[in-house]
Amino acid sequence: MDHRLVIVGYGTMGVTHFEKLADVDGVEVVGAVDIDPAREHYAAEDGLHVYPDLEAALADDGVDFVFVCTPNDSHRSIAEAALRAGKHVMCEKPAMLDSEELAAVTSLAVATGRVFAVHQNRRWDEDYLSIKHLYDDETIGRIGYIETRVHGSRGIPGDWRARKAQGGGMLLDWGVHLVDRLLLMVDSPVVGVYGRLSFVLGKEVEDGFKAYLTFANGVEALVDVSTTNYIPLPKWLVQSVRGTATIDDWQMNGKVLFHAETLDEEDDAEPIAAGAGMTKTMAPRKVDFKALVANDPAVEFLPLPRVDTDVKGFYRNALAAADGGAPLLVAHAELLRTMRLLEAIEESHRTGQVVAFEPAAP
Ligand code: NAD
Repeated sequence: MDHRLVIVGYGTMGVTHFEKLADVDGVEVVGAVDIDPAREHYAAEDGLHVYPDLEAALADDGVDFVFVCTPNDSHRSIAEAALRAGKHVMCEKPAMLDSEELAAVTSLAVATGRVFAVHQNRRWDEDYLSIKHLYDDETIGRIGYIETRVHGSRGIPGDWRARKAQGGGMLLDWGVHLVDRLLLMVDSPVVGVYGRLSFVLGKEVEDGFKAYLTFANGVEALVDVSTTNYIPLPKWLVQSVRGTATIDDWQMNGKVLFHAETLDEEDDAEPIAAGAGMTKTMAPRKVDFKALVANDPAVEFLPLPRVDTDVKGFYRNALAAADGGAPLLVAHAELLRTMRLLEAIEESHRTGQVVAFEPAAP
């Protein structure tokens, strides 16, 4: 039997899920709830049954799934009411405002035997999967340094995203994605977290942040979110001692440059004139980065891995979990670890100290 789903919050993401779920087998979007009459009107135009309020939707025995697509501060009350009414829940990110709320809701899901699946959709982004492929396969050797970044130049939108009480700010907006993916990729405890939040726009929420993470296996990572940078930097930059890879944009433009030998086997470069001086340490290689051609025999360009990906795997997994126990791809323990790490970044900003997040065993 098809699952019958109601979307709560028929704004940007509510409509997106309505459209994306249209060709997912085993589920039908049957209704919507919103507090804004204009959005109720759109939902009705899309052919959905518009419930007068959440209670009416939850009282409908013909509905077994609720998708929470409202601003962040209302996720908890809606998810808890839905779970208590015996409905399964898909929920937009950030699942909750903090780890305490998250632990309460995931416990309730377990107690009620209902699914609570959080839409960490950026796990399905091709740029992430391409970098993860390089990391797992050690294509350019063992990656020891990672930068994961998303930059814009439009500031914080003027809606609920600019209000602290509603869960605004870049930690919960983009941080929750970037940290989630990083923790999946680097399978090692995080021993240290240093974070700096940015408030250059003078709002009550952070307009960006930088966090430096040290993993027990020696990997170092920079998580970098800004809404005030007009000149794009790479979304990803990863380094081993034998190679570097970048992905520049959403279109998967990027490069992988690999040094086949070890650096020790190479002669020193000839000194070159550079700025007001000379350098051989920083002498560039003879490489055309636009044409991706290396005229230096020691290095070569490799293709950036391309990975087939389909974000609808999120919906299919949540439905399979409801049908009979498929494990959730976005596991509750992973969500909690990410949320706690975001809190460690805030703590580090507040105290000016490195936070020992998951201290290594003595
Ligand atoms: P939005 O402002 O466009 O839409 C929110 C809708 O919820 C509005 O129509 C509003 O009227 C309605 N609403 C508010 N309170 C409500 C309540 N108590 N009951 C019913 N309806 C209510 O916001 P959005 O951009 O769609 O964001 C919604 C959620 O999706 C947020 O949690 C956000 O973080 C998340 N989001 C996720 C992604 C992603 O890629 N995963 C992208 C954008 C937003």
